[in-house]
This record gives sequence, C-alpha cells and structure tokens, in this order.
Amino acid sequence: MQKGVTVWFTGLSGAGKSTLAQALYRVLRDRGLRVEVLDGDVIRTNLSKGLGFSKEDRDTNIRRVGFVADLLTRNGVICLAALISPYRAIRRETRERIGSFLEVFVDCPLEVCEARDVKGLYRRARAGEIRGFTGIDDPYESPESAEVVVHTDRETVEESLAKILSALEERGYLAP
Ligand code: ADP
Repeated sequence: MQKGVTVWFTGLSGAGKSTLAQALYRVLRDRGLRVEVLDGDVIRTNLSKGLGFSKEDRDTNIRRVGFVADLLTRNGVICLAALISPYRAIRRETRERIGSFLEVFVDCPLEVCEARDVKGLYRRARAGEIRGFTGIDDPYESPESAEVVVHTDRETVEESLAKILSALEERGYLAP
C-alpha cells in the first residue's frame, strides 16, 4: 500500500508553487501513484469561496485545506498543497494535524516574483487596487525548518523538482 504524505508548498505569489506542484503531480502520476493537487487559486473558487485575505480568513482557508489534506493523506494519497500560507503558526498546526508532512519553502526574492508578475497581481497591488497583498502590505513569515528549500530564481524547474523527489525518497515515501 502506498504511503500517504502531504507536500506543502509555501512561498510568495509567483514564487513557483503551482508550477512545481503540477510538475511533481505529472511525475508521480506517471509512476502510477495516487496523487492530488490542492491549489490555492482553485480552492479559493470553491472550498473557500467567499473568504478574503484577513489573517482570520487566511487561517480558515488553511485549516480547510489541512482538513482535506489530512483525509487524503490518511488514505494513502500523495497530496500536493500549493498555497501562499504566510503564517508560521498555522503551517505548524497543519503539520501537527497531518503528521506525514513535508514542507517545501519555495524561496524567491520579492523583486523576482514581482518582475514575473505571472497574474498581474503585483502591478495591481502597487497601484493600490488590491489591499493586503502578501509581500507588499501583508506579511510573509518564512519557514525556519522546512524539509526542502528551493530557490526558483536560480534553479530550473527540473532542479527544484529533483530536490523534492530526493526528500520524498529519503523519507521512504517514494521508491528510489
Ligand atoms: P505561485 O504558484 O507560487 O504563485 P507560479 O507557479 O504560478 O507561482 O509561477 C511561477 C513562475 O516562475 C512560472 O512562470 C515558472 O515558469 C517560473 N519559474 C522559474 N523557475 C522556476 C522553478 N525552479 N520552479 C518553479 N517555477 C519557476
């Protein structure tokens, strides 16, 4: 029976969480494993529809995703959660709830995320059209002990992906 685990990607908007979660999803699916992606942007249009970006709503969002990730993980699924999840305390709470948990800090300088501006949100935040945007006028608390740190400003997607796969193999979640 496949061992379940939650791989939790945290980082600024545009850091590369979705890209890496999708790339990892394809690799694992191609190996015949059961895998599911919980992507922040998708979650906010259904499971967490109506929630905003106050600390309280962000924490509620993460608790909901943590609840689903726990169910999947308990049932032997590899769950890939890609959410900014800016607060350290709620990430710790989620880790403790799930147990089989691997935190990936998708580290990328704000200037690089802003230059990428994948969704045009930084431009809108700078123009004052969006308030409480992480990294601009809302905090991001970097992980202090993530199992994996990827630097997407100087690694290719393949290099970052290889680090995550190695970490999963080392911990016995994947066959080498
Ligand atoms: P997020 O989900 O964190 O908001 P996205 O995955 O939507 O970020 O966007 C990240 C962007 O950075 C993509 O355009 C991706 O191609 C690029 N990128 C460059 N290098 C990497 C890397 N090593 N890992 C992930 N993304 C990268």
